[in-house]
Amino acid sequence: MNQIINPDTYSELLAEWREIRDLEAIAAVLDWDQATYMPDGAAEGRGRQLALLSELAHQRTASPRMAELLRACRGLEDREGLEGAVVRRARRKHERAARVPGELVHTLKRHTAETYVAWTRARPRDDFATLRPLLERTLELSRRLADAIGYVDHPLDALMDESDPGSTTASIAALFDGLRKELVPIVQRLADAPAPDDRFLHRSIAKEVQMALSRDVAVALGYDFSRGRVDLTHHPFMTRLGAGDVRITTRIREDDFTEAFFSTVHEVGHALYEQGIDPALDGTPLGEGASAGVHESQSRLWENFVARGEPFFRHWLPILRARMPGAFGDVELGAMHRAVNRVSRSLIRTDADEVTYNLHVMLRFDLERAMHEGELRIADLPDAWDERMQRDLGVRPDRLASGVLQDVHWFCAPIGGAFQGYTLGNLLAAQLYAEASRALPGLEDDLARGETTGLLVFLRERVHRHGAALEPDALIRQATGAPLGTDAFLAYVKRKYGAIYGVAL
Ligand code: ZN
Repeated sequence: MNQIINPDTYSELLAEWREIRDLEAIAAVLDWDQATYMPDGAAEGRGRQLALLSELAHQRTASPRMAELLRACRGLEDREGLEGAVVRRARRKHERAARVPGELVHTLKRHTAETYVAWTRARPRDDFATLRPLLERTLELSRRLADAIGYVDHPLDALMDESDPGSTTASIAALFDGLRKELVPIVQRLADAPAPDDRFLHRSIAKEVQMALSRDVAVALGYDFSRGRVDLTHHPFMTRLGAGDVRITTRIREDDFTEAFFSTVHEVGHALYEQGIDPALDGTPLGEGASAGVHESQSRLWENFVARGEPFFRHWLPILRARMPGAFGDVELGAMHRAVNRVSRSLIRTDADEVTYNLHVMLRFDLERAMHEGELRIADLPDAWDERMQRDLGVRPDRLASGVLQDVHWFCAPIGGAFQGYTLGNLLAAQLYAEASRALPGLEDDLARGETTGLLVFLRERVHRHGAALEPDALIRQATGAPLGTDAFLAYVKRKYGAIYGVAL
């Protein structure tokens, strides 16, 4: 028999979460401002304000009041539908937050803020010596965080449970090891083959022309500007400030067309997900993406599977030629498709093509694993990085800024739990695109006509509207008919790049 629940108690739980969500949204506005328009002089005050808001949200999530409401709503937890899902996710977030002492949250926040500032100064000077003691402290605090949250097998399990629930160090390692064995020889074959000519992508295009194009591509893909906006930043991102306000940012280089174009499409992919979440979930613990991996699947699907595909440029290349005749007037479809899919042994993850990209991610995941296991000391991290780059990608960083110091992650947050999501996203994007191609037989013809509504409706139905109501594994199974694997991604890479490079993979 179902326990009798006072309907007021569930309403109070929702009201409590509405306020936690609002605190998070207020912090997100300040974060967005910091990354776009804030004057440099505001940095110190802004850091303090953001730390205060994150502490307030943590306190509210971990509070005795929340524990009491969850106890009173326990009878709802096994129910199907919205109420059960809300209570389950609320409990999960509460229990996680309650296990982490406020003092540790505060210490981590202050330490990582200090480390971030040190990193922005040390990176251009390739100065690892200054960062080393800070990173050692970050690792120590990350271990304390993992211990506080708790885990059975591996400290990274505790850290990745928040970003990619259901994944474990062992499950990710097994998935990645299989992928790496296949990818390393593919990269070797492609990187040794004659590379497509992509020099025309570096012809100069005025910033205003590129920004106008970014806006038009966003609209064409279904991004709703009445509930969003696009601005410029250093490192593009998407942020949700509520169901009615999902913003994107982009970055323009006059001498690199791909920068703004593909960054915008990538962030639009994230934004379409957030704009497509059922409005009824807004303000609840379910009003967000299911996981980092599922989120990245949406950005990568639009960026790589759609916008780096030949059908997409059948529609867009004539538009580019008309708007940017100096850059694209003499460029043919095949040349464009090959150029935007050039594979190279690159040093920087964020610039990497879709074939080599996952090798960059696996390197970071394996180093994090070794650091947490005590097998790799921070002092040895730069060498370990360089050796692995040499082994997997066949290149060695010429300086630390293009090696171990390139990514912000270890310098602004705990070490561990973030990188795996990028590769999970690439794998899921492949699986979703294969399923979309089955469900929508005219998909590529539609894309060639600039028609993307069918694909968006498919993603809305299978992924977006659910928000975090389904756990990632359940979401992936219902959306693609199978658990997450590497087959769809490897088949896609072999087919696409075999054709572009004229080699059998
Ligand atoms: Zn992304």
